[in-house]
Amino acid sequence: MSGANAKINLLGMNRSDLESFFESLGEKKFRATQLMKWMYHLGVSDFDLMTNMSKALREKLKEVAEVSVPEVIYEDISADGTRKWVMRLAGGNSIETVYIPDNGRGTLCVSSQIGCSLDCSFCSTGKQGFNRNLNSAEIIGQLWIAARSFGDYDLSKERYVTNIVFMGMGEPLLNFDNVVRACDVMMDDFGFGISKRRLTVSTSGLVPALDKLGDVTDVSLAISLHAPNNPLRDVLVPVNKKYPIEELLAACHRYLSKLSDKRRITVEYTLIAGVNDSETHAGELRDLLRDLPCKINLIPFNPFPNSGYERPSRNATLRFQKILSDAGYVATVRTTRGDDIDAACGQLVGRVEDRTRRSQKYIPLQNINVSPDGRASA
Ligand code: SF4
Repeated sequence: MSGANAKINLLGMNRSDLESFFESLGEKKFRATQLMKWMYHLGVSDFDLMTNMSKALREKLKEVAEVSVPEVIYEDISADGTRKWVMRLAGGNSIETVYIPDNGRGTLCVSSQIGCSLDCSFCSTGKQGFNRNLNSAEIIGQLWIAARSFGDYDLSKERYVTNIVFMGMGEPLLNFDNVVRACDVMMDDFGFGISKRRLTVSTSGLVPALDKLGDVTDVSLAISLHAPNNPLRDVLVPVNKKYPIEELLAACHRYLSKLSDKRRITVEYTLIAGVNDSETHAGELRDLLRDLPCKINLIPFNPFPNSGYERPSRNATLRFQKILSDAGYVATVRTTRGDDIDAACGQLVGRVEDRTRRSQKYIPLQNINVSPDGRASA
């Protein structure tokens, strides 16, 4: 809550937050799951409609709380069914969220920050600079809006969003607490009930925060590798200078060892023509990942203005994939989706006006300190 009369936004609070909230009102804890069912299973934000709560409680809720979602300022549906939303947040900045339907699955790609401070050289979000972390309501708000965009909303009947990936704008582990809280809500049976195997947090490799993540949750993990050796990764993913590949892979092993089931890490590798797409690079990658239970997602680079990089040819992509497949890896080439609405991987930012001043907001990499709980400070 900010300001004397500001209302508490209940969206994005996890079950234990809500239990504490209701206890603070003198109510029983079970009100939390009642409210979650209204909000997340039925998409209801109006307290007056929550008829299994007493009138007095509903009046109290209206006085002190709200269910507030980001404002959608732009929505587009691609010819292939991909949907993209641009949402305006408090403070005037905007984020993008993308929904990709594929063979009975619906994957939502959510953002965790406005912009990103890590400045990967091939990433259009990184070029925008960093503004701020999203709070958990703003993260859950993206899912709320996507889930409600298909008409009648009732999770018990129809589920359009089956998978969620934190691969939109931002580095999720630099917004640790809010991302973990949002994951709680996504996975909770009284929340969106998404399986831990279908909820993926993708990181560029912040090792201390990755270790902490494995202590507090068991979501699936993806790493943005993009290069098979340190000199090249130092250029493409500059955070590698702080946490080089061998430290990142060791952290991946530790993460997997904390899970109660057998899972694989998803290794994201953006293929850039003439930079990291040669047969030699493929061979290096094959050898590098030999001991890691993983699947490899090859993403042909999507050019954006002034990126300085080009998309590899189809032949180069398939050659790269074959070297990995021949070695026994599951290596898929990500099909570009939503090209016509700028929703393809690495294109998020597109038409959003950049309200940040990068020179003032941007934190140079060498000045970032990441504490064990994943917070970055300059
Ligand atoms: S690839 Fe991810 S971590 Fe790197 S700049 Fe882009 S959003 Fe940030």
